[in-house]
Amino acid sequence: MTIGIQTAAYVFASILFILSLGGLSSQESAKRGVFYGIVGMAIAILATVLGQGVHGQVYIIMAIAIASVIGILLARKVEMTSMPQLVAILHSFVGLAAVLVGYGSYLDPKTQALPAAEHNIHLIEVFIGVFIGAITFTGSIIAWGKLEGKIMSKPLLYPGRHAVNIILLIASIVLGVLFAGAEGTNGLLYLYIMTAFAGFIGVMLVMAIGGADMPVVVSMLNSYSGWAASAAGFMLGNDLLIVTGALVGSSGAILSIIMCEAMNRSFISVILGGFGAVAASGDATAMEGEVTAMNHEEVADFLKEAKSIVIVPGYGMAVAKAQYPIYDMVQTLQKAGKKVRFAIHPVAGRLPGHMNVLLAEANVPYDIVMEMDEINPDLPETDVVMVIGANDVVNPGAQDDPSSPIYGMPVIEAWKAEKVIIMKRSMSVGYAGVENPLFYKPNAEMLYGDAKDSVEKILGFLKA
Ligand code: NDP
Repeated sequence: MTIGIQTAAYVFASILFILSLGGLSSQESAKRGVFYGIVGMAIAILATVLGQGVHGQVYIIMAIAIASVIGILLARKVEMTSMPQLVAILHSFVGLAAVLVGYGSYLDPKTQALPAAEHNIHLIEVFIGVFIGAITFTGSIIAWGKLEGKIMSKPLLYPGRHAVNIILLIASIVLGVLFAGAEGTNGLLYLYIMTAFAGFIGVMLVMAIGGADMPVVVSMLNSYSGWAASAAGFMLGNDLLIVTGALVGSSGAILSIIMCEAMNRSFISVILGGFGAVAASGDATAMEGEVTAMNHEEVADFLKEAKSIVIVPGYGMAVAKAQYPIYDMVQTLQKAGKKVRFAIHPVAGRLPGHMNVLLAEANVPYDIVMEMDEINPDLPETDVVMVIGANDVVNPGAQDDPSSPIYGMPVIEAWKAEKVIIMKRSMSVGYAGVENPLFYKPNAEMLYGDAKDSVEKILGFLKA
C-alpha cells in the first residue's frame, strides 16, 4: 500500500470515528454510531498492517485473529452489570500498550539514529507517553478491582498524600531531564524508575477516590487511555493514532466534566480524591421514622388505582435482568389507560447510559424514558413512583443531609410523589454505602425480593 493510499485511509477512518462519536450522542443514532466506529477501526487496522515498512504481516494477522476470538468470547460472556469492569480493564490494556510502545520505540535502533533535534523530541514523546500509560495502566486495574468488589470502594486517604504525589511528579520531571540527557540507551534506568513512580501515582490516585465517584473515574481513565494512545501515536509517527487518541482523550474529559456537573461535584476535587472522605469520617445522621412493607398484591392494587406512574430503575434492575417483565408491566398499565414513564438518573447503574441501554434492549420506546431534570418537576403530581433496584440515585440525604457523603449530588425526588414503592431485596445500602432516609418516609413502602421476580408477580395480579 502506498503512503498516499494509507494517508487517505487514515483520513477516512478519522472521519468515521468523528461520525461515530456524533452518532453515540443520542439513543436513536447510537447503533449507526457503533457501525461507523467498527468500519473506521477495520479500515485503520488494514491500512496500518498493510502499510509501508511493516513486516511479518502473517504474524500480525494471526495475533489479531487470536485476540479477536478472545475478545468475542469475553464480550459475549460478560454480563451487562460487569460492563464497567470490562471497560476499566480494557483501558488498562491501552495504558500498558503505550508503556510497551514507549520502551520499544526508545530501544529501536532507527529512532536512535535520528538527527539530534528530532531524537530529543522523540525522547520527550517516549517519556510522556510512558508516564501517562503507566498511570492509566495501574489506575485502571485499581478501578477494575473497586468495581469488581475486589478492592474496598471506600477512599484510601492517608495524610500527606497530595505532597507525596507532587514529590513523585517533580521527581519524574527530574528523571525526564536526566533521561533526555543520557547517551544511547543509557536512559533506560531513569525510564524504569519513572514507570514505577507513575504506576504508584495511578494506584494512589484511584485508591483515594470514593465509591460514589467511580463513574467519573471510569470516564476519566477513558480520557487518559485516549491521551496514552495519542502519545503512542507521536512515538510511532502514526497520525491516525494521534487523532483517534485525541478524540477519545477529549471526549472522555468532556464526559467526566458533564458527569461531575450531574453529580454537583468539582472535577478537580474528584480527581484529587477529596470527595468521599466524609464517608470515611462517617458521622452518619441516624434514620428517623419507620420502615413499612407491602406485598405484591397490594402493590398491584395501588397501581390499578394510580393514573400516573413513574419507574426509577437502578443497578438492581440490571442485576435482576428485570427490564423485560418491567416493559410487559408498563404495556399492561398503558392498556389500562395509565400514564407510565421512566426516570433515568445520569449515574444510575454502573455505567454512563446503563439504564438507557437496558431499556432499549427490552424495546422500551424512547419517548417514555425521561432524564432526571425532565421528570423531577412532575413528581409532586405523580401518584406512584416505583423505585426498582435503585438506591443512591433516590437518596433524599443528597439534598438535606450535609453529613451525607453524597450531599450535593442531584437526585430523583421520588419522595415527592404521593406514594413511593421501593423494590429491593433487603435494607442494605447501595454503591456509595450510604443509608437511605427515603425508606423511612411515611409515604414510602418497601417491596422486598428480587426485582424480576417481584415485577412478574405484580404483573400476574395486574392481569388477573
Ligand atoms: P445502588 O448501587 O445505589 O443501589 C442498587 C440497589 O439495588 C442496592 O441497594 C440493592 O439492594 C438493589 N439490588 C441489587 N440486586 C437486586 C435484585 N436482584 N433485585 C432487586 N434489587 C436489587 O444503585 P443506583 O443505580 O441507585 O446508583 C448507582 C450508584 O453506582 C451510584 O452511587 C453511582 O455513583 C455508582 N456508580 C455509577 C456508575 C455509572 O457510571 N452509572 C459507575 C460506578 C458507580 P439489595 O441488596 O437490598 O437488593
